[in-house]
Amino acid sequence: MKQMHVSVIGLGMMGSTIAELYLKGGASVTIWNRSPGKAERLLAAGAAQAAGLAAAFSASETIVMCVANGEAVSELLATPGVGAAIAGRTLIQLTTISAETARSGASWASEHGAGYLAGAIQAAPSQMGKADTPLLVSGAEHTFQAQRAELAALAGGLVYLGPEPGAAATMDLATLSWVYGGMLGFLQGALILQAEGVDVASYGAIVRSISPSFGAFFEHEGKVIQSGDFAITESPLRISVDATLRLLRTAEQSGISTEFPGLVSSLFQRAAEQGLGGEEAAALIKVMRPASGRR
Ligand code: NAP
Repeated sequence: MKQMHVSVIGLGMMGSTIAELYLKGGASVTIWNRSPGKAERLLAAGAAQAAGLAAAFSASETIVMCVANGEAVSELLATPGVGAAIAGRTLIQLTTISAETARSGASWASEHGAGYLAGAIQAAPSQMGKADTPLLVSGAEHTFQAQRAELAALAGGLVYLGPEPGAAATMDLATLSWVYGGMLGFLQGALILQAEGVDVASYGAIVRSISPSFGAFFEHEGKVIQSGDFAITESPLRISVDATLRLLRTAEQSGISTEFPGLVSSLFQRAAEQGLGGEEAAALIKVMRPASGRR
């Protein structure tokens, strides 16, 4: 089998893990980091140090970038010599960036005769390299197919979101929204338990055990929203009106924060007032949309 040649730009927590996984997989790996001192372990494991950023781009057929943010990406792509060095190669951008930065990266690569994929990592460094590690990817399909092996070495759970380069970044924002909504709910749950003197330590394990079935529920609700048909198929919205009011009343009586249950309950109340109680739970999205975007 043909040996992979990969350059890894950025050796933070995630970039070092990426370089390590490629080395373990037998790839020829060239590394570059803005500041010195992060390469030693990788060099000892067989990586080659690039003499400079442009040299790192020209050393391999595939360049994987994983730096702090979009500003760092823009600075690196504007570095003299980098544009010329990328010609005929493929840049896989794994930095968490905005959809706009992903699109401008795709245009930059195309102008310089290079392929481009934008990926959004959905895992911590210790979870990388596994058969089910989730990685969202967008960009031209032929480029995705050509880079499948390079991507699968990092994350077996590849999700290809189509040719629009910003799609992975947009989906990353959506999953981030879900994570923080879940975190608020989780912390409110911990307050409820503490107020009643119930063990909080076992709570996380219980949440973990119920997460797959709630994941399946959200998968269903996503299809409902996409279809625009909110006829009841799983959970009537009126159940959530009662449940979220119970959360608010409990918070008021226990003297714990009412901010989160107050917000959720008021949204469901509004949905009930608009006559949505007899629709599927996801119909709540109708009161969250700007007035002009409701359907
Ligand atoms: P990190 O440990 O803080 O490393 C940041 C890296 O970016 C370092 O190599 C740093 O170089 C480099 N950098 C920062 N500003 C730069 C600039 N202006 N020019 C060149 N290089 C610059 O962060 P990380 O955890 O590796 O995260 C990297 C990316 O992966 C982020 O976009 C993050 O959102 C994403 N990600 C991380 C995780 C995670 O759990 N760690 C999970 C999913 C996604 P220096 O060494 O010179 O400072």
